[in-house]
Formats: sequence, structure tokens, C-alpha cells
Amino acid sequence: MPLHKIAGHRSVLDLLARALARDTLLPTLLFVGPEGVGKRRVALTLAQAINCQTRTAAVPGRGASPLEACGTCENCQRIERGVHGDVLVVEPGESGAITIDQVRDVVDRASYRPFEGRKRVVVIDEAEMLGPDAQNALLKTLEEPPGASMFVLVSSRPDVLLPTVRSRCPRLRFGRLSAAEVTDTLVHDHGYAEADARAAAASADGSIGRALGADSTSVAQARDVASRALQTATASADPKRRLESAKELVAKSKKKGAPAADREALALRLRAMTSLLRDVGLVLSGGNDAGLANADLGSEVMKLADRYDGDRVVRAFSAVDRALGALMARNASPKVVADWLVLQL
Ligand SMILES: [Zn+2]
Repeated sequence: MPLHKIAGHRSVLDLLARALARDTLLPTLLFVGPEGVGKRRVALTLAQAINCQTRTAAVPGRGASPLEACGTCENCQRIERGVHGDVLVVEPGESGAITIDQVRDVVDRASYRPFEGRKRVVVIDEAEMLGPDAQNALLKTLEEPPGASMFVLVSSRPDVLLPTVRSRCPRLRFGRLSAAEVTDTLVHDHGYAEADARAAAASADGSIGRALGADSTSVAQARDVASRALQTATASADPKRRLESAKELVAKSKKKGAPAADREALALRLRAMTSLLRDVGLVLSGGNDAGLANADLGSEVMKLADRYDGDRVVRAFSAVDRALGALMARNASPKVVADWLVLQL
């Protein structure tokens, strides 16, 4: 998403855009501010602006930033879908904490040169969930980040971070959004109808996260649906049976059935599917169960691992990626996308 499309936070965005244009962006930053106001969104948008293949100068008269991600090139889209190899997001897992292993993994990966983009961007979301050990494992890297890497820590409770970590990451402060800005984001980025958006924004206290939180069960439901659809699709080679699982995938969400909301609901399920397939790949490569993102669905993941081999899981993973691309970038119909996808799994 181009910077100028982000709701609110003008001064932070201007500052980042200027630094980008002058190539003076600091390699470690700490984004602080209330929960759910879009800090992570801004970090990912920054990653897009850095890695965009066709980024452009300001659009005159639009008050646009000096540098803009196009939002449509391969890099921008892959970052948007969360599958770009150089933009790594670390966040708390099932245990609620960010583990030292997660930190070591990104520190290790950050030491290599980026392989698809200009710069590797590591976003550590809910950084306050890093335990002291995990923070200590980060320290050296924050002190001397590898040349082509940058680290953005995101936190609504920065004061619980170790002083040594805080002192190495200059802060950018995010404020609450206005109700109008929340409404706008719900309509444009989440497919809400105007009236619903206004109602949700009214009680959200300037936080998009809170407005959406009314819907927080949807993520868990999406994962259940994705898991069932994968089981059905892989249980039989019969195309008719497989198409049954597509029906499940596109089942209407409770939210009004606006086309954008249906696409959003399918996208949520496909992202959950990506995560499940990543776990299947991990099991197949002999990985440790503790590293599974969906460890609580362990038996489902194991059942899938029995049906897949390494090549097939890679093909399935890239099919889900293409399906997400068609859905998000080209506005394809959810039904067409789901029907195509289940035959590729
Ligand atoms: Zn781009």
C-alpha cells in the first residue's frame, strides 16, 4: 500500500518518507503508540517503499510522500501477502511470547544478503512480548545491523523492553486515529459498508484493531475452515470431491456479503492455509514440533503430512500464493479462485 493511502499519522509518515528519499533511514527503529492504530501496517508499507521495483517520486498536488511504493509490482504484492523472502515479520506465537529461537532465526537470516529485494526488513511486532533472553539475543544485531538489513520493533508497551534495547532503537510515536480515519480504513481496506464502519469506529477509541476486534473470532474460524478444506481436498483425487472443499472455502462470511468482504474472508482463510502448509513442510523436513505455528492443530498437520511429500507441498504453497495474488491484486471472484485452488492442492 502506498504511504499516502495510510490513514492518519501524517507527521510520522512524512518523516519516514523524507528519510527514505535522502537515504538517511536509520537501520533500527522502535514504533510506539496505542494498540491497533496501524504501526505494523506502516512498518510493512515502509518495507514496500524500500523494496518496490518501480517506486515513484511524489505525485504533485496530492500531498504525496517523496517516495511511494507502487503497490502493484511483484515485490509490493509479495510483501502485502506476507510471502516476500526479505521482509520478515516476527510476532508472538501460541505461547504468547516471542521466543529466543524466533529471534535467533531472524538474526541469522538477516546476516545474509537480501535475495529478492533491496533490503531485508525485519518487523518485530508486539516487541514487548520478547523475554529478556530473546532481547539479549537481539542486542548485538541492533547495535550493528548487517548492512542490507533494517529492524523495526513495534510496541504499544515499550517501557517493558530492556533499557539496552530501547537505547539502541530511536522511537517514532504514533497517536490515536480520529473516528473518521478509522471509518475510512474499515471501508477501504476491510470492505465494511459505510454505516457499519461508522458504528464500529464509534466505540473503537481511535484503534482500527479494536474496531476489527469485534471480529476477533474470525481468525480462528478461518483456520478451522482452511484445515478442513485441506483435508477434504487431499483426501481424494476425484475432482468432484475436491470441489466440495472449495464450497467450504467460499462460504459466506457473516458480514453482509459485500464482494470486498467475501474476498477478505477468503483471503483470511488462504493465509491460514499458507501457515498450515508451511507447518506441513516443516514436519516433512523433520522439523521440531515446537516450531509449528499451528502446534495446537498438531494431529491435523500430521494427517496432512502423511498425504504430502516435499514437492507437492511446495507446489500447494505456491498455488495458494497465486490464488491470494489473483484475489487481492486482480479482484478475481472468490468462487473461481477457490475452485481453481482446490484442484492444485
Ligand atoms: Zn512496487
